[in-house]
Amino acid sequence: MRTVVVGAGGAGLWCAIHAADRGPVVLVASPVARESATSWAQGGIAAVVTTNDSFELHMADTMAAGAGLCDEDAVKVLVDEAPIAVDGLRKLGMLFDDEGAPTLEGGHSARRVLHAGGDASGAALLDTIVRAVEQDNRIERLDGRAVHLIVEGGRTVGVALASGEELRGDRVVLATGGACGIYGRHTGPDASTGAGLALAWEAGAALADLEFVQFHPTALTVPGHPARLLTEALRGEGALLIDVEGRRFMPALHPRAELAPRDVVARAEFRVMEETANPVFLDATGVADVARRFPTADAQCREVGLDISKDPIPVAPAAHYFTGGVLTDRWGRSTVPGLLACGEASATGVHGANRLASNSLAEALVFGRRAGMAPDAPARGLLAGAPVPLDDRPPSDALPLSTIHHIADRDIGVSRSRARLEAAIGELEAGRGDGSELGHPTASLAAWLVAHAALRREESRGGHYRSDFPESREVWRFRQAVDTGGWRVVASSVRPPTT
Ligand SMILES: Cc1cc2nc3c(=O)[nH]c(=O)nc-3n(C[C@H](O)[C@H](O)[C@H](O)COP(=O)(O)OP(=O)(O)OC[C@H]3O[C@@H](n4cnc5c(N)ncnc54)[C@H](O)[C@@H]3O)c2cc1C
Repeated sequence: MRTVVVGAGGAGLWCAIHAADRGPVVLVASPVARESATSWAQGGIAAVVTTNDSFELHMADTMAAGAGLCDEDAVKVLVDEAPIAVDGLRKLGMLFDDEGAPTLEGGHSARRVLHAGGDASGAALLDTIVRAVEQDNRIERLDGRAVHLIVEGGRTVGVALASGEELRGDRVVLATGGACGIYGRHTGPDASTGAGLALAWEAGAALADLEFVQFHPTALTVPGHPARLLTEALRGEGALLIDVEGRRFMPALHPRAELAPRDVVARAEFRVMEETANPVFLDATGVADVARRFPTADAQCREVGLDISKDPIPVAPAAHYFTGGVLTDRWGRSTVPGLLACGEASATGVHGANRLASNSLAEALVFGRRAGMAPDAPARGLLAGAPVPLDDRPPSDALPLSTIHHIADRDIGVSRSRARLEAAIGELEAGRGDGSELGHPTASLAAWLVAHAALRREESRGGHYRSDFPESREVWRFRQAVDTGGWRVVASSVRPPTT
């Protein structure tokens, strides 16, 4: 069994290590390490590792964050197997901070988040696994970018690279990360523009949960500089959100003011930014000893010429985690035989409509390992019901990325409506750039899919907010999927609840 793994973040690397037990592995990825969101992860990995915690609690917290759409069986796999992943990392020599004593994070009802290297957990994790892959002679590593999947007789049998080279295998695993880079303001790598979505779509695989995008409310936002995540802990320690006149706007909107849930804060900022046509600011000047206590934030602000202890810092909501992806079963198998996916590129159902903090590194490892060990038989019964045909076709004339960024931030971001989404779809389909920049077909397709999924879901839930349908609606308590044949329902999301 020869496996081709595309992508070398946490999910792809972990998958490669486990797939190697079943036969030769080729791991192909961009040579730029910073293109992996894994290396950016600051927080940590969620796993039940103490007797004061339990699998049931981790499941309950995950399902509460997922706002009614988590796949309970997939969540059970995640929480049961996250400690196995942590053990595996330890065996490879990864050292966790405070001898592995977990910390408490928002949304978790017990201490279960493991950190390494302070706020550099992702980089520590990646270093550990890269070392192991480099020492494993069963894994061949190749620099390259996958541009097409090779499908023969309805089965995926390889990938074509931008260089023209073709890599053949008995199965291909997409571990290409998320698609938050379709937004101008995003907290992760610029290159995360939905490569996995585009590859899988072209091969005929179903994608799911595309409307759910998690936005982080406080990304440092200075024109001409990439957005940078400013930790929530700053607000926890008393930093305030103010408008351009220096007025706080959160106390009037939520009893917890600046500490309201992320989506509430993000929407409030977006509204103030639209109403005042000005940025909003994070004022951390009242936080004692802020520069010393928050060295990463201090350095990020200095980079753009601001002093966090004296200046209000311009912030805006930024796309942080892309929940949707290639629809998979519990083994990472997609609706196309021979094609698997794991990590942020996949939609396993563990996050439902919104992700619990620190569950994504755990998901990348748990389902990366499973994809590596998946049975050969194809997945069955992932979709239910007859397809509803697509209203229109994806853009054939791709817009440049900078135009897509503008459309996505404005119309398919934190606050959506029929009018905004139709405007976005119209512009994406018209697809006329001014000719000064090349079109970006992958991002065009991803943005078009997100806009359509968001237009269909006439309710607000988790990472999807519609100002014209501000409440959750029971009729929409299911996950939607789409492939080139039309819109479908994810079968497990309509299963009657077990008693
Ligand atoms: C700022 C930030 C902080 C975060 N903090 C946390 C945290 O504390 N805890 C947590 O659980 N999660 C966190 N996350 C989320 C988490 O980092 C990601 O969800 C996770 O790392 C995704 O891993 P992955 O392997 O699926 O994708 P990635 O790590 O993004 O890797 C994708 C890989 O695919 C490659 N690739 C992409 N397209 C192609 C192509 N066409 N051909 C070849 N290769 C390709 C890329 O180069 C890269 O190697 C954070 C994210 C960000 C942005």
